[in-house]
Amino acid sequence: MPNGLQVELGAVVRVPLGSRDVYGFVVSSPQPASQSLDGLRAVNGVVEGPPAFDAGMLALAQFVAQRYCCSLGEALSAAIVAGALPRTVERLVPQAQPEAGRFASVPERLVRLIWGDLRDGFVLEHLLRHAEARRAGDRRSLLRWIGALVRGGVLQRTRTFEGARLQESRERVLEATKTTVRGPRVEALVALVREAGALRRADALLAGFSAATIARAVRLGALHETERRPQPARRTAGNPPDLTPTSAQSAAIEALGAVLAQRRFAEFVLEGVTGSGKTFVYIAAIERVLASGGQAIVLVPEISLTPQTARRFEAAFGNRVAVLHSALSERERFEGWRAVARGEKDVVVGARSAVFAPLRDVRLIVVDEAHERTYKQDSTPRYHAVDVARERMRLAQGVLVLGSATPSLEAFATTLRGDATLLRLPVRATAVALPNVKVVDMAAEFARGNRRIFSSALVEALERRLQLREKVVLLVNRRGSASFALCRACGYVPECERCSLSLTVHRAEGLLRCHLCDAQRALAQECPRCAGPMREFGVGTQKVAQIVESLFPSARVVRMDGDTTTRIGDHARLLDEFAQRADVLVGTQMIAKGLDFPTVTLVGVVAADIGLHLPDFRAAERTFDLLTQVAGRSGRAQPGEAIVQTYSPEHPAVRFASHHDYGGFVGYEIPERQALRYPPFAELIYLGVIGRRSGDVAAAAQRYAGALRGVSGVEVLGPAPYPVPRVNGEWRYRIALKTQDGSEVRTFIRQTLQPMARLERTTRLVVNVDP
Ligand SMILES: [Zn+2]
Ligand SMILES: [Zn+2]
Repeated sequence: MPNGLQVELGAVVRVPLGSRDVYGFVVSSPQPASQSLDGLRAVNGVVEGPPAFDAGMLALAQFVAQRYCCSLGEALSAAIVAGALPRTVERLVPQAQPEAGRFASVPERLVRLIWGDLRDGFVLEHLLRHAEARRAGDRRSLLRWIGALVRGGVLQRTRTFEGARLQESRERVLEATKTTVRGPRVEALVALVREAGALRRADALLAGFSAATIARAVRLGALHETERRPQPARRTAGNPPDLTPTSAQSAAIEALGAVLAQRRFAEFVLEGVTGSGKTFVYIAAIERVLASGGQAIVLVPEISLTPQTARRFEAAFGNRVAVLHSALSERERFEGWRAVARGEKDVVVGARSAVFAPLRDVRLIVVDEAHERTYKQDSTPRYHAVDVARERMRLAQGVLVLGSATPSLEAFATTLRGDATLLRLPVRATAVALPNVKVVDMAAEFARGNRRIFSSALVEALERRLQLREKVVLLVNRRGSASFALCRACGYVPECERCSLSLTVHRAEGLLRCHLCDAQRALAQECPRCAGPMREFGVGTQKVAQIVESLFPSARVVRMDGDTTTRIGDHARLLDEFAQRADVLVGTQMIAKGLDFPTVTLVGVVAADIGLHLPDFRAAERTFDLLTQVAGRSGRAQPGEAIVQTYSPEHPAVRFASHHDYGGFVGYEIPERQALRYPPFAELIYLGVIGRRSGDVAAAAQRYAGALRGVSGVEVLGPAPYPVPRVNGEWRYRIALKTQDGSEVRTFIRQTLQPMARLERTTRLVVNVDP
């Protein structure tokens, strides 16, 4: 280290490695090098700027590294990725050029460009603006192709630091002028801006206005876009909600308040039926925390799906709250993060990664809809935000609240063990009863001669509700029009060339699509093998929307699924359309969450069985959650109903969901898990071995499994191929580990297995703790 160079914990330093500099974090004060200097490098500079993390965040990152078997650097990157680092830029770096035909859907022109002019790596935004790339396809196609190349492992994401000077805080703001404009979208946008006085651009995007609409309004002179410093935080709260709590809400608030006052670690599970007013309880608890000088974090599954919830926190806490969401630009997110780090904010609302928000004195973390799988990150480090939140509160002696209508079995088990306190909100805050749920046996329907996708009960209910001008939500757990095509003459089913999966029919686009790797090809009327007639089976959102339109030609239908919500703001735009003009909303599970439309009085589940028979120990729990949540969208202000169509009417997940009986479901599911030694009764770790040559993959998996059998107290299952054994041209084998206490096996994985795997050239190892 150069003389006189001062480093502090959390500093970012430059270290020479070969011909280039890499960046590192300072994780402890300098120690004299005692033994060999091999492998040590001198630091040759410190990057300007405030420390990227403090001792508390370092401890949390150490927990993540230990728990999820990743390096401390990977854990720290996750903890501070949202912006504490000065201007990190993500680059995509080409690896070995893919052999011809491997990415059949990616145009040759794009491959030539990336492995030619751009072979040293590029920033995604630059590629999207590159003239040659734009000749290959539009922005959306480019994003899809790049996604496929990244997933296929031939493009690698890396983060680099570009400069290190802190930018002055700026946010983009829209203001209305006196100019009037025509056009419904632009008019609506201008009206919104007028109403707000000045509106952050990010908020306009979140409200469902596209960047194109905003640009148009600016070009026409109706709006004026400026940059301003974020308004300094007022240390005053916004308006407190003026609702009277129910007695259950009051009891929950008191219980939380009592423990918060004691300043000790405690965990609560808040089980509240849909519409019971959990957010009200969160806000009251946060008010107590702020009143005593502390800070709080609220995690939500995905802000674009639940903008109403985020708004309620902004309304309650005004400028003291930072909402970190996906509509912000990278720079705005960075600024938001910096404002939090500078102590200008006391409440952070955000998705998974907000669990690492750099607040200094967090005394409460609320995880809303804590059962949601989006809290688990599916790339390294594969952390679960609920477990990280628990550790953060344990370290800080604060309170963790897990709220849900259907708490996960893991959360419920902590209440059984006495490690968490169960608080219940058993009735809706509006006093409207939960909807009546009717289960329709589709096998019986078929036997009576109805071969259609809608049962007669669902058609009748639809007709009744549409006549009353009430709104209907239809859940179809698959996008596209049909789940697969099949030749009636020879039985041929079109499959993806790179994945062991049949292709989904997207009739509206005339395409067959792979839902794993996004490959697509034209939909043919004739069998490519025998020229026989192709038939489509199963049902998707497109098909259901089309059936509703043909049955009720005057009904206005909105479809919301992964195909119609590819841009920020699409969710809000479609939901707005549904609220203002449409009668029927057809969508995938994304419509099950958070929607609160008072005039929805019928929810139909078209096929409750999709997902029920998946080879996943959580299949029943997920189906129960989904049915309970989506039924809860019905009748929030006036009595409503739900109709669940299924071939498994007797399945406990369906039966208990139809009675809104969470207690009944866990009473059935807990002994099942216990008998099979699945979480929460054992720790589960999945090891994935992945590579292009199936022989190498199987052999490596066998070697790892053999090594693991030497670790005591671990049950080693497999290796066996994944339920979908081939994805994107790569073979995947899985080893499942079950154990009562995973600390020993995690150490073994980190110290023995991962070093072993790093020597392999044709396979890679993916460790997924608590899958
Ligand atoms: Zn055929
Ligand atoms: Zn595929």
